[in-house]
Amino acid sequence: MILDEFLRSVEADPEFAKSPPGHLQISDVKTTMAGEISIGWHWYFDWVEPYEERLENLSAITCCLCGHQGDIVRNGNRSEPLCGYCHVQDRRTDGYGSE
Ligand SMILES: [Zn+2]
Repeated sequence: MILDEFLRSVEADPEFAKSPPGHLQISDVKTTMAGEISIGWHWYFDWVEPYEERLENLSAITCCLCGHQGDIVRNGNRSEPLCGYCHVQDRRTDGYGSE
């Protein structure tokens, strides 16, 4: 999910069209101990760096319940990354936002 969005962002960048076809190739995708995604490239371009940083940040705030992209949500004295869907589910079941 996160990686798909990352690749779409990279391909949407004007620099991507200027790069020789096939030069922007991912050789390796790993998840670090911290839960962040780390990408190895066959060829690397400087303009990719901001996208890659963003990907690493995104992967560090992946929903802790379902693995989708999430955001840090404060819930009382807890803070945890949740996606919009799980956040809503959480609020519905905590006795406050019940419908
Ligand atoms: Zn979720």
